[in-house]
Amino acid sequence: MRRSAPLAPGARVGLTTTIPVEVVLAAGLTPVDLNNLFIADPLALARVSQAEAAGFPRTLCAWIKGIYAVLLAHPEIQAVIAACQGDCSNTQALGEILATEGIEVIHFKFPYPRDREQLAREISALANRLGADHEAVARVQARLTPLRRQLRRLDRLTWETGQVHGQENFHWLISSSDFASDLTDYEQRLTAFLQEAEQRPPAANGRVRLGFAGIPPILTDLWPYLEELGAAVVYHEFPRQFSMPYESPDLVEQYLRYTYPYDIGGRLADLKEAVATRRLDGLVHYTQSFCFRQMFDQFLRDHLDLPLLTIEGDRPTRLDSRTRMRLEAFVDVLRP
Ligand code: SF4
Repeated sequence: MRRSAPLAPGARVGLTTTIPVEVVLAAGLTPVDLNNLFIADPLALARVSQAEAAGFPRTLCAWIKGIYAVLLAHPEIQAVIAACQGDCSNTQALGEILATEGIEVIHFKFPYPRDREQLAREISALANRLGADHEAVARVQARLTPLRRQLRRLDRLTWETGQVHGQENFHWLISSSDFASDLTDYEQRLTAFLQEAEQRPPAANGRVRLGFAGIPPILTDLWPYLEELGAAVVYHEFPRQFSMPYESPDLVEQYLRYTYPYDIGGRLADLKEAVATRRLDGLVHYTQSFCFRQMFDQFLRDHLDLPLLTIEGDRPTRLDSRTRMRLEAFVDVLRP
């Protein structure tokens, strides 16, 4: 059984989604994004089945089942910070189950609706719980500023020049939620990657420019398949949000502008801006089976003025033939 406080310096703390990681780092702890841990696990598909064998329903989002099972396989993770508001009610229920199994669960609530004072209180409460003082959090935020700028640079190299490929863009942005659990190493690798990418010739014109909206896809071979079709993915909505794309010296402001945990209106503004700035030809709306966010599909169709294809994934598998055909037809229609 993993037990409550105090968390020793360097202790590994699981995250159910992107929360103010500056606080975790300021407390001297090691953040571990459980989504990334699950999806990178060679046994990812088996993890979902393991959770089902433990009683989780078939009709439940596979990310939740994967997080549960991968956590059991990693007893070195001493506590979990669960976003019990701003993510989904499944995360809340998962937190309760983990707590009954002896895993320490620390709750973090993104205020709904978006509210500056409440968010400031939540960040302070998290800092108090983890033992991070205000100055240490501010130092970490300043420490991360150049790194976050590098991530913005990487994103620009994706949509402006095509020197960074879609899958690379996804990889770096999605892993900025916990900096792959090793900030220094992540930063060094990112610096080296950017130096190499900047030497590449700009991508040729004529590719279909796609964006991805919605939850990070659980499907494993999307990007190579789209590349094969001659399409470039130049925008990933949520991974970009996880990288904190708006620079602000105010941590509360930074997490207020982060669109993922709040209302669809903020997401829509971000999507509209991306469609225009990145000159998207089409948008793929990825939806996760059994996720409440599927309900926004029609809203996005009604409010975005570009071709939109909705695909759905359930488990961490390769694309099925029907989805491959639909993607192929979509890219063909958009081809200049
Ligand atoms: S994909 Fe949807 S249902 Fe699954 S954990 Fe994320 S928000 Fe919750």
